[in-house]
Order: sequence, then structure tokens, then C-alpha cells
Amino acid sequence: MLMKENQPLAPFTTFGIGGPARWFVEAASEDDVAEAAVWAGDRGIAMFVLGGGSNLLVSDAGFNGLVLQVALRGITAEAAVDSSCHKIYRVGGGEDWDGFVERSVRDNCAGIECLAGIPGTVGGTPVQNVGAYGQEVASGIERVRAFDLQQHAFVEFTAAECGFAYRTSRFNSTDRGRYVVTRVDYRLTLDGAPTLRYADLQRTLQDNRQESAETSLVEVAAAVRRVRQSKGMLMVNDDPDCRSAGSFFKNPVVSDDQVKRIAEAGVKDPPRFPAGPGQVKLPAAWLIEQAGFPKGYALGAAGISSRHTLALINRGNATADEILALASQIFTAVEAKFGISLDVEPVLVGFR
Ligand SMILES: Cc1cc2nc3c(=O)[nH]c(=O)nc-3n(C[C@H](O)[C@H](O)[C@H](O)COP(=O)(O)OP(=O)(O)OC[C@H]3O[C@@H](n4cnc5c(N)ncnc54)[C@H](O)[C@@H]3O)c2cc1C
Repeated sequence: MLMKENQPLAPFTTFGIGGPARWFVEAASEDDVAEAAVWAGDRGIAMFVLGGGSNLLVSDAGFNGLVLQVALRGITAEAAVDSSCHKIYRVGGGEDWDGFVERSVRDNCAGIECLAGIPGTVGGTPVQNVGAYGQEVASGIERVRAFDLQQHAFVEFTAAECGFAYRTSRFNSTDRGRYVVTRVDYRLTLDGAPTLRYADLQRTLQDNRQESAETSLVEVAAAVRRVRQSKGMLMVNDDPDCRSAGSFFKNPVVSDDQVKRIAEAGVKDPPRFPAGPGQVKLPAAWLIEQAGFPKGYALGAAGISSRHTLALINRGNATADEILALASQIFTAVEAKFGISLDVEPVLVGFR
């Protein structure tokens, strides 16, 4: 293992923001992961697990510990032993997520086609139960293999044991920071039908399809990428709107009573989606716009994407503090207007 010192972290993040890691190591095998854990444990050094850096805001001071970048590669595919219509993919935690999605749709395997174009690694996907356009990884994951930093042993979890819910799992809640995900097994449906729940996805497909053709998984994944690009939510060189960590705030799940409060704030019919008995999910983007923050809003070098209200962006040489100042302005305004506290989606690294 090559242990680097004072490694700048900004180039490892999609925000392009963040100070140095005191120590930095790339783990290309499970042995590397275990060795790095022992190294940090023996010295009492804090450890942070880095994937593709697409869901992080790293502080300007950086991280005073060991950053372990997961770089385990490899994809194997085999027919499921218990079902002729499923394939099991075993994917190294450091594989590029979108590359794996592309491989799966080319194999005509359904289950993650709507998650095309999301940056980051395969090992990062179970952490916040990545989701978009009507799919979440929770429904495709068969098993997660990980190194337990407390027990210093490899463990495996079934999907049921991962505690998946909207943008959450055991890996970012009860067991935050405890596991290094080294492999994720996906169970996908051979020749399965694509998931087509979202209107803007259906519209894009109609605009680009011949009337008689059946929609293939490859076409759906391509359409998802087009929709994402139109919103600045695809990593494209020189697109200033994608220097972000994706959505900065989660869509809040609120009670019917809180919806009444919104009506009292002067808005009669807020957009909402059912989220269980007596509860609805509200689009955070809508709340933010109603609170006075349009697309393209700027605060110094931090800003809101010109194509997606939920994405805070680095407009040039923004610091982490500038991004947080904008986030705080938005948080305070939404809370004052609607009484709703927005939750931050990206992981904050190196802040005291
Ligand atoms: C333009 C853009 C669009 C996005 N769109 C979406 C979207 O539609 N839906 C969505 O859900 N997310 C979206 N995201 C957020 C992000 O891409 C995902 O959350 C992604 O899965 C993060 O993976 P990563 O490898 O980059 O993780 P990182 O950002 O490196 O890390 C995120 C967290 O996961 C942990 N982690 C990462 N890898 C591992 C591992 N192997 N083992 C243990 N812990 C690990 C880290 O410690 C950290 O806590 C978007 C981001 C961007 C920039």
C-alpha cells in the first residue's frame, strides 16, 4: 500500500471543493482494506471511506485522518441458481456505477436502468440507497459484502439486513462509518420490462423513438441520461451546473398537519406524493423556490444550479464554507416560511 500524506481532496469530489487528507491510501483489494484498517487502528487515527466523491462536501481544512479510497474492481455475472429469469452480478465496490448500469442494460437485465447517469462507485450505492426515476438500489441488491472496522472481519448482509428506506440504510444511520463496502451483489431480471413511471422520462422516450419499436432497457438508460443532462444532473465536462453533489437537500416527509401549515402560509395546493398513512413527501425544490430562491441564485462563488433548484453548485472557486453559508440561508428561509427543517443529503467531511 502506498500511503500518501497531505493529499488534496478537492480533485476527488464532484464539487471540486475540500482541503487535504492527512493520510490517503487507495485500496485495490480486500487485503488492502484490512491492512489500512489495522494501520489506522494501531495509531488511533480516524478513517473516512471515499468512493467517487459525488455525495460529499469536504471542509476547507480537509480531513485530519486516513482517507481510504475504495478501488476494488471486477464484475462477474452468472444465472441465479433459484430462478431462470434472474442474473446475479458480483461487483467490486470501486467499480464505476454508471459503467455497471450500462453493462446490465446491454445484457438486457432490468432493475437499475433508471439509475443510469448517477456518478460514484458501486460501493457507494447501498450507503444512501441511491434512487431516481422510480427505482432504488434496495430492490436490486441481493447482498453487500463489507469489512467491519469494529470487529476487523469481513461480513455479508442480505438486502433485508441493510435497513433500506428513502435515502438511508444502516450504513449511513445506525452503523455510520463502521463498514467498508467491498462488493455488492445485484439480482437483476433477464429480459425484464423497464420501469417507466416518470412523465418526463416517458416524454423523452416518445420524442426519440420510432412509433412501433418496443422500448429497450438500453433506450431507457439513454433517455434517463438525456433527462439528467437537461437538468445539469449528469457529469459532463465544462457544464458548470454539475459541479455539485447532486441534490443538496432531501425531499421532506411531513404530516398532513404540516401540509395545512403550508396552506396557511398562503399556498393552497403544494405538490405532494403519498408517503404512508397520514404522511406526504414534498418536493424540496418547490419549497426552496417558494421561499425565494430561484434557479441560478448566487451567493459569492456558491450558487443554485440554473437547471435544478436542489443542486447547490461551485460556481468557480467556492469554499466549503461558502456552500454551507448558502445552504444555511436556504434552510432558514424554508423553516421560517413553512416550519419545515430540510435535511442535508451529502455527507459533510472534516467539519467540527
Ligand atoms: C450530478 C449528480 C447527480 C446525482 N444524482 C443522484 C440521484 O439521482 N440519486 C441519488 O441517490 N444520488 C445522486 N447523487 C449523489 C451520489 O452520486 C450518490 O449518492 C452516489 O451513490 C455516491 O457514491 P460515491 O461512490 O460517489 O460516494 P462518496 O460520495 O465518495 O461517499 C458518500 C458516502 O458513502 C460512503 N461510502 C462510499 N463508498 C463506500 C464504500 N465502498 N464503503 C462504505 N462507505 C462508502 C462515504 O464514506 C460517504 O459517507 C448525485 C450526485 C451528483 C454529483
